[in-house]
Amino acid sequence: MVRWHDVVSAAGLVADDGTVRATVFAEMSTLAVRTGSINLGQGFPDVDGPAHVAEAAVAAIRAGHNQYPPGAGVPALLEAVAAHQERRYGIRLDPTTQVLVTAGATEGLAAAVLALADPGDEVVTIEPAYDSYPAAIAMAGAVHRGVPLVRTPGGFRLDLDALAATVGPRTRLIVLNTPHNPTGAVLDRTELEAVARVAHEHDVVVVTDEVYEHLTFDGVEHVPIATLPGMAERTLTVSSAGKTLSFTGWKIGWVSGPAHLVQAVRAVKQYLTYVSGGPFQHAVAAALADDDGRTRAWLDELVGSLSHRRDLLCAGLEAAGFTVTVPAGTYFVVADARPLGVEDGVDLCRRLPEVGVVGVPVSAFCRRGSRAADDLAASVRFTFVKREDVLRDAVGRLAGLRG
Ligand SMILES: *Cc1c(COP(=O)(O)O)cnc(C)c1O
Repeated sequence: MVRWHDVVSAAGLVADDGTVRATVFAEMSTLAVRTGSINLGQGFPDVDGPAHVAEAAVAAIRAGHNQYPPGAGVPALLEAVAAHQERRYGIRLDPTTQVLVTAGATEGLAAAVLALADPGDEVVTIEPAYDSYPAAIAMAGAVHRGVPLVRTPGGFRLDLDALAATVGPRTRLIVLNTPHNPTGAVLDRTELEAVARVAHEHDVVVVTDEVYEHLTFDGVEHVPIATLPGMAERTLTVSSAGKTLSFTGWKIGWVSGPAHLVQAVRAVKQYLTYVSGGPFQHAVAAALADDDGRTRAWLDELVGSLSHRRDLLCAGLEAAGFTVTVPAGTYFVVADARPLGVEDGVDLCRRLPEVGVVGVPVSAFCRRGSRAADDLAASVRFTFVKREDVLRDAVGRLAGLRG
């Protein structure tokens, strides 16, 4: 039987005395508020998304799109997602059977894991992993296994030997995430081909979280694994408007892939939220359909400004004494505090408010005692999706760590 205790325990939330404590994310955000620190722990933008898309949501409300939308999602959004996947990546989808709108990527991921993994099945994730994956895996009663990302001079790279050794006959699902939170790694073709190989070998479905698909820097290309030979028929791709459009509160996500897999996800999803965000679905449909026009121009500017803010924060962290692995995408950078004499990133994060900044320890994204947890014990994730003046202030404060 699956108990709530397994879920909070998988999330690392059971204290030594058996009580359930707040997530490190909640702890750090509370600490930021209490100490008046700059919160570089939580990754949400402090500038709104495009005005024309906000206006489209207002217009949708005024036009009366205020009752339950269809179970699979508003047709215009299903069509916009299918058209986006074809235009961008050459992935062809039937919008009536191969796309499902969800309450953010989070619900799509949870519903996919619940639909496809049975109790006792193994679900493999990259490690560190976004914190909703282990919780969803525990809710399904499945067993979580991890393949570490390894810090190299060229960025974090997937350990391909560990991948081959971890995926096996008991593996039901591989949950990928590229561009990757928390490390900012963007999986390259070699890594994706290795995942495709083991997926074929063991007849495994891949669920890929691509919410940062548009947020890559320095011309690094995001490659959806569904575009690799033979992968479209075994891949569920999950994305969302939250990160792409800087509207993280709208919670409009989508799942796409083979009709039978999308159908399975829908069967679970209809009893989680049934539907959500009707007017926002209309607005996101308009934004995605306008991907070559105003939305594209806005996104290009966001990516340019984000990569500039990444450079600013990375330079500040280096100057403060951290070793930084420069991210190729996302909102985040991972900084290694060992050069500052730090061994425990959790301790450091509890002390960082003394200089007026908050980050989150990367160990919070790892299973306790795993190789990734060991390797990244002294690492901290900081977000750079904050205004430039806020980042300059934070960098100035971080310089105090050396003093
Ligand atoms: C933010 C984030 C999500 C959540 O997306 P929503 O659309 O807000 O549910 C999922 N995966 C990763 C890796 C994220 O960083």
